[in-house]
Amino acid sequence: MLTRRDVIKTLGGAAATLAIAPVLNAQTTPDSSHSAPPAAPATTAPAAAGPFKLPPLGYAYDALEPYIDAQTMTIHHDKHHAAYVANLNAAVAGHPDLAQMTVDQLMIQLPSLPETVRTKIRNQGGGHANHTLFWTSLKKNPNGKPVGDLAAAIDKDLGGYDTLKKNLSTAATGLFGSGWVWLTLKNGKLTLDALPNQDSPLTQGQIPILGLDVWEHAYYLKYQNRRAEYIAAFFHVIDWEALNARYQAAQA
Ligand code: MN
Repeated sequence: MLTRRDVIKTLGGAAATLAIAPVLNAQTTPDSSHSAPPAAPATTAPAAAGPFKLPPLGYAYDALEPYIDAQTMTIHHDKHHAAYVANLNAAVAGHPDLAQMTVDQLMIQLPSLPETVRTKIRNQGGGHANHTLFWTSLKKNPNGKPVGDLAAAIDKDLGGYDTLKKNLSTAATGLFGSGWVWLTLKNGKLTLDALPNQDSPLTQGQIPILGLDVWEHAYYLKYQNRRAEYIAAFFHVIDWEALNARYQAAQA
């Protein structure tokens, strides 16, 4: 099976992103008066200097409209995710042993990484790993429902889709500050957990199936303080086919 990294290499990474970006970039000048947490500076170019690359979004910035708007997608991917990649590259500079690991390996082995870089890798590597999973979990899919083996597992482990939706929404609404709510596989069973900041489920020994990003940068341009509306909209952009494939791969 092709890994994400293989695909990025094949497509030429940043070059592939740039090929689809110019038109939309021209239409979506960021309005700084609406920015919630200040965006880290755009660092796509420096990111290319290290081992970690910003994966192309894989679809148009406006593909999830009206649930997630093109401007949010553009800034979220091209600025926020790019900054995590650039900062992760900076963190592993001078650590060739770490630079040759995948970001998922870094997250799994985080507790044993050198203390001098552990916090940076926790935050920046977590940001890279989490967003990489996030983009590949999304597709415009109004009123979509779980499919296949994953649907059966949700029925068995989490009381069915309606209960999952209710509990995931409650957890995301109630999460204080920045973080994610995760649907993961833990000891062979599905579970829902909220984790702070960019902490990765991989570090907790869990395999992420879906993450709901509830950092303000994920929704503030469109929804401002109305996090609950963003959470409700999120259920219309879940690519359940992709999640089912991820679940099946995690079982293998
Ligand atoms: Mn985010």
